[in-house]
Amino acid sequence: MKVLVIGGGGREHAIVWALLKSSQVTEVLCAPGNGGIAAIARCIPCDAANLHELVNIVVIEQPALTVIGPEVPLSLGLVDELTKRGHRVFGPTQAAAQLESSKAFAKEFMQRHDLPTAEYGICTTLDQVREELPRFSVPIVVKASGLAAGKGVVICETHLQAEAAAAEMFSGSLLGTTEEAVVLEEFLTGEELSFFALCDGTHAIEIASAQDHKRVGEGDTGLNTGGMGAYSTDGIATPAMRSWLLHNVAQKVVDGMGSEGEPFKGILFCGIMMSPRGPMVLEFNTRFGDPETEAILLRLETDIVDLFNASIDGTANELTINMRPGASVCVIAASGGYPGKYASGKPISGLPTQNDQPSDDVVIFHSGTALKDGKIVTAGGRVLAISAAAPDLQTALDKAYAELAKISFEGMQFRRDIGHRALRQQPIR
Ligand code: AMP
Repeated sequence: MKVLVIGGGGREHAIVWALLKSSQVTEVLCAPGNGGIAAIARCIPCDAANLHELVNIVVIEQPALTVIGPEVPLSLGLVDELTKRGHRVFGPTQAAAQLESSKAFAKEFMQRHDLPTAEYGICTTLDQVREELPRFSVPIVVKASGLAAGKGVVICETHLQAEAAAAEMFSGSLLGTTEEAVVLEEFLTGEELSFFALCDGTHAIEIASAQDHKRVGEGDTGLNTGGMGAYSTDGIATPAMRSWLLHNVAQKVVDGMGSEGEPFKGILFCGIMMSPRGPMVLEFNTRFGDPETEAILLRLETDIVDLFNASIDGTANELTINMRPGASVCVIAASGGYPGKYASGKPISGLPTQNDQPSDDVVIFHSGTALKDGKIVTAGGRVLAISAAAPDLQTALDKAYAELAKISFEGMQFRRDIGHRALRQQPIR
């Protein structure tokens, strides 16, 4: 079968890579793809935020299955548009994707269905923010309700700072677009965990858990980024905790959305804080996370097409997802200056050639690269996702860093401490 993947980052490279391992797949296309994806799949240039362009590509190419990577086309209703035209597509509808595209919707949904989450207030004006603020102690978390590519959360030490952050969100000076609603949230402490479930409208089944490193600097310091690395191991959380998260978070979401007439299909990424009061949902993503996906898909033994089909057909309860035992990691090589201003178009040296790929255990996924005059150059903040799997976390890390040591480009930065937190700690219980 011919499969089309929408998106052009490391996550999509990993999805394309996993699809190419499937015996059910004869051809993979990617729109728009990137310099690395172009080496293994036909890329179709496009604006992945333009619904009309994306629908046209599907109409012209007639793939047997379309898989949507990023959140923006989901929030614009690409699944609805394609389904309406009779195409087979993996991902949630626009209404279901609100769990990610509207934090206000997600918080109210969690309250309606008794899911564990931090205390909150939803404000649509600055006056409302001023009225609500005294209810919260400091620090306080201020969140833009809409999609913000990881930049919409500000942790404030004072109420004045919180008011200023909300004002910047409403005016558009923080994110470039004006925000209709702002969520004020109680500040929680604890270990964070990303729990991934596959959902088919009725059932949620566990895929894997991962932890990512959001801050740019070692020791989790500096500005927030899209993610500087991630790791996934069997032992991140105890079986009892994973079962609790499946039944008390993911399955409850699927039940709740079903009861509201908006069945949830696709990947549900639950961002969890293990707070002293118990696990609390920080956020939902309604698609594969990036860079967690690069680590998780290296461990996936089950044919990824079976996951997509089970979600679309409502048969996830019949599927067993096998993950390779042990650990996998992903270390991001980013452009100098990221997450602030950075230069693009820098030649990348040391990448393996087509005939000289590292073993199946080590894969370099491209996050932001382009082909220029036949050469791979940088084309984004996050450039490469060097990923490795092994029977244990330390070996996986050693493999990824050994591969990374061969690669260079002007300004390249990366964190040397990915996974180190997990090397020191007990499983989350
Ligand atoms: P979110 O996009 O809502 O997951 O937030 C991004 C990051 O901000 C999370 O991964 C946390 O590190 C942090 N964060 C979000 N909400 C809270 C909260 N209520 N308390 C403490 N930290 C938070």
